[in-house]
Amino acid sequence: MTEKTDIKSLTVEELELRLKEQGIQGFRARQIFQWIHEKLADSFEEMTNLSKDLRRQLEEEYELVALSAADVKVSAADGTRKYLFRLGDGHVIESVLMKYKHGNSVCISSQVGCRMGCRFCASTLGGLERNLKPSEMLSQVYRIQKDTGERVSHVVVMGTGEPLDNYDSLVRFIRLVTDERGLNLSQRNITVSTCGIVPGIERLAEEGLSVTLALSLHAPSDQVRKTLMPVACKYALKDVLSACRLYFKRTGRRLTFEYSLVKGVNDNLEEARALADLIRDQQGHVNLIPVNPIKERDYVQSDSRSIAAFKECLERKGINVTVRREMGRDIGGACGQLRKSYMDRKQEG
Ligand code: SAH
Repeated sequence: MTEKTDIKSLTVEELELRLKEQGIQGFRARQIFQWIHEKLADSFEEMTNLSKDLRRQLEEEYELVALSAADVKVSAADGTRKYLFRLGDGHVIESVLMKYKHGNSVCISSQVGCRMGCRFCASTLGGLERNLKPSEMLSQVYRIQKDTGERVSHVVVMGTGEPLDNYDSLVRFIRLVTDERGLNLSQRNITVSTCGIVPGIERLAEEGLSVTLALSLHAPSDQVRKTLMPVACKYALKDVLSACRLYFKRTGRRLTFEYSLVKGVNDNLEEARALADLIRDQQGHVNLIPVNPIKERDYVQSDSRSIAAFKECLERKGINVTVRREMGRDIGGACGQLRKSYMDRKQEG
């Protein structure tokens, strides 16, 4: 049996071409695209302005990817929702909805698992299973918007996976989710977070997009960075930072430098000063994240006094700093820990 085409990953233009080859009029492509990406249909059955015959034909030739929720946790404290979605092949992924004053933001996964091996991260413990398709990235956003009945205005690609390790699907996802004939998100409201894959950053800079890039920095020197992030052995900080400068030059988008504070590893004032010097000539700000301890590692969160001192030190040196607010604290876990605990349970049971 030949595999059905993944219709949700196609652009209007691609769909139009295919339909024409099958003798179907071009305007149908726009109708179908609208059903999938604006009305967020989960089946061809729902597409009631298409004839029954056409719907049956689509059913035969195309696959319409939809996710089922394996688990949802809702925070009573701040309305954060953590979703565990099951994919067509049985794998599960994690997505999070965060409610802010400026809108609803969804954090999506870009891969099933991850091969980057960051020492403090739960998502990488089982390695990489596979890349997500654009349709599977879109479906996380669509499913959550349907579930809450509220518009999603922001997307952060900060869930499980390294988005620049799944480059083509990432870019296709961005183009589809910002298509004005679909969900029509603003590119400026999309953030892509990377551990620092230099060729990927350089390529994204030339893509003609205006999404925000967040760089997971986590240390001001290659030496310390290498102890936290194996990717630092492949790409030196100076090259990562010059790719970031190129990114700003090409896109005009200011960067976010993420820095997870780990007690006794990267949180002393000498490191704060080195960090300030390192990014002095960059356009962007630092986002400090108190590390979320995971049970497989013995990293400990910096205490609030060290965090405040670190922040103050950066500010004195003229760097813009925010400290990430912990969302959904009452529903536990973060950064791939929901998926991890689900997999652990499954293995035990
Ligand atoms: N692979 C991408 C995106 C996924 S991780 C990246 O590395 O940027 C999103 C962010 O969460 C990264 O900054 C990552 O370093 C951070 N992170 C992962 N696990 C964490 C933990 N346990 N505590 C704090 N930050 C964590």
